[in-house]
Amino acid sequence: MTDREFEAQRKRVRREMNKWRNLMGLGSWAFSYVYCREGLDVPDGYAAEGRTCLMRVNSAWEYCEAEIAISMPMMLETPDEELSRICIHEMMHVLVAELREGADDIRHEERVVTMLTKAAMWMMEGAALGERKKLKGKAVA
Ligand SMILES: [Zn+2]
Repeated sequence: MTDREFEAQRKRVRREMNKWRNLMGLGSWAFSYVYCREGLDVPDGYAAEGRTCLMRVNSAWEYCEAEIAISMPMMLETPDEELSRICIHEMMHVLVAELREGADDIRHEERVVTMLTKAAMWMMEGAALGERKKLKGKAVA
């Protein structure tokens, strides 16, 4: 990955993260970002499944602080629509972070966050569809 590609991806991911951070009510949180030129470690138990890790969140939820580590080589391969879903997913991790305390196994959190992300995306799709139907109805009338 060239420096130019790295910088383009850094700007791209920050723009998308800032968008979802604000839309999801996390504007008052302090975020920091770690842009990794290498891949990220996969959480215990997931490497055996052949999973990879594009982003990882660490949170000091009691202080409303979150650090997001990003694998920049993987970012280069991530389409825009997928990036939106991933950013929403990571922000959901931030929202539920305090529920993780003391839990070594994050599979339950991953399922909850995955379903919340799907629900958010279905709501946005439904709202967009409703707007299109409304506009279509106006055009016919
Ligand atoms: Zn996750």
